[in-house]
Amino acid sequence: MLAYIIIFVYNFGVHYVIFMNIFEKLKILAASAKYDVSCASSGSNRINAPGGIGNASYSGICHSYAADGRCISLLKILMTNICIYDCAYCLNRRSNDTPRTIFTPQEIADLTINFYRRNYIEGLFLSSGVVRNPDYTMELMIRTLALLRCSYRFNGYIHSKIVPGTAPELLQHVGRLADRVSVNIELPSQQSLRLLAPEKNKHAIISPMQKIAKTIEENCADRQHYRSTPTFAPAGQSTQLIVSATPETDYTIMQLSEHLYQKMKLRRVYYSAYVPVNYDPKLPNISKPELWREHRLYQADWLIRLYGYRTVEILSAQQPNLNRHVDPKVNWALQHVDFFPIEINTADYEDLLRIPGVGLISAKRIITQRRIQRVGYADLKKIGVALKRARHFITINGKMHSPLRLQPNKLAHALSDYGDEPHQLEFDFTGVRQP
Ligand code: SF4
Repeated sequence: MLAYIIIFVYNFGVHYVIFMNIFEKLKILAASAKYDVSCASSGSNRINAPGGIGNASYSGICHSYAADGRCISLLKILMTNICIYDCAYCLNRRSNDTPRTIFTPQEIADLTINFYRRNYIEGLFLSSGVVRNPDYTMELMIRTLALLRCSYRFNGYIHSKIVPGTAPELLQHVGRLADRVSVNIELPSQQSLRLLAPEKNKHAIISPMQKIAKTIEENCADRQHYRSTPTFAPAGQSTQLIVSATPETDYTIMQLSEHLYQKMKLRRVYYSAYVPVNYDPKLPNISKPELWREHRLYQADWLIRLYGYRTVEILSAQQPNLNRHVDPKVNWALQHVDFFPIEINTADYEDLLRIPGVGLISAKRIITQRRIQRVGYADLKKIGVALKRARHFITINGKMHSPLRLQPNKLAHALSDYGDEPHQLEFDFTGVRQP
C-alpha cells in the first residue's frame, strides 16, 4: 500500500501524470470533499453478519470539525478531484489550477478497511468529480463499493454520491451496495444551474432522484412479502443545496425542500452556505459564508419535516426570507399571538408542538404525564421544556407564568437570538388572546 503509484489520466485533452503515494492522495481528496455537507450522520442500523466486518448504527459515522466550523464525517473522500465540469462555486472545477489525483477502487477499499480496523471510522462517504462521463465515474465508485461489500464483507455504513446523469441500470447497483445515496441538487432553480453549473441540468438531477425514490418504495413493498429480498438504499436518499450563491429566497428554497420530502420521500435536504473559494464574476461578492442563514433554513426544515408545519405558514411571497433574529418557530408564534396562550393540561399534541420551547420529546412527555396527574410549571422543567421561551405562550390550569403577558416589543427582544436589534423585528400584535 505504501508503494508509489503512477497513474495516467486522460482528461480534457491533457495528460495528468500523478505520482504520489496513497497518503498524499488521501490528503488531497479528503480536503476536496470537505465542502460536501450531505452526510451529517449515519442513517442505518444493522448488526454484523457472520464472517463479515463492521456494523452500522444510527449514531454512525465519526465526525470531525474543519477550520471553518463545519462538521466533517470520516472517512469522507472523493474518488477523484479530476472533473470535466466547470461549476463556478467548486474548488475542483475544471478551470482551477489545483493538484489532481485519483484513487483506484482497491485503494479506497483498503483505506476504509484499515481505518475501520483501527477504529478511526465507522463508515464511508464516497463522492467524486466527474471523470470522462457520469457513467464511467459511477462504475469506478460501484467497483469500490463492490470490493468492500463482497470481497471484504464490509457491513458498515456507506453513503454514496450519485453523479447527475447516471444511467438507471447503474443506480440499481449503487442502491444495492450503499446504505444511503444522494444526488446533489446544488442550486434551487434551472436558471441558477445554467448560470453557475452550465453542464448540469434539472432533468439530469431529478430523474435519478425519481428513479431511486420509486425503487426504494418497490423494495420496501417486496421486503414485506419476502424478507430475503436484498435491501435497496435502506437509509434512503438525501441531497444538498447551496444557499446564498444565487438570489433565490428562503421561500423558494423551502418550497423546493417540501416538494422533495413529499414527492421524492427524501430523508434529508442539507443546506450549505456558499463558501467563496473561487473568484468568478458570476458569483456573489461575499467574504464569509452566511452560516446564520444556513442555520435558520435547518430550523425551518425541522418544522416542515417533523413538526407538521407547511412552508406557506412560515414564509410567503410578501415575507420570503427567514427572520435573522428569531428562529422560525418563535417567528410564527409572534405572528400568530391570537393562537396563544395554550393550556398545557388540555392542548392536543399538534398544538403543544406549536409552543416555542416545546420539542417532540417534551410534547410526548407532557401527554404521558397528563394521564397520571396534571402538569405544573415545576414539572415542565423536568420534562425538558425550555421554560424561558415557553412561559410566554402557555397557561397552566388557566394561569400564565406571572407577571408575563404577550407584550410585543419586550417579547420580541427577549426571544431574539441576538437581542441587540429589536427595532428590526416587525410583528403584528393585534388580536392578542389574553388568558
Ligand atoms: S461536477 Fe461541479 S461540483 Fe462536482 S466536482 Fe465537478 S465542478 Fe465540482
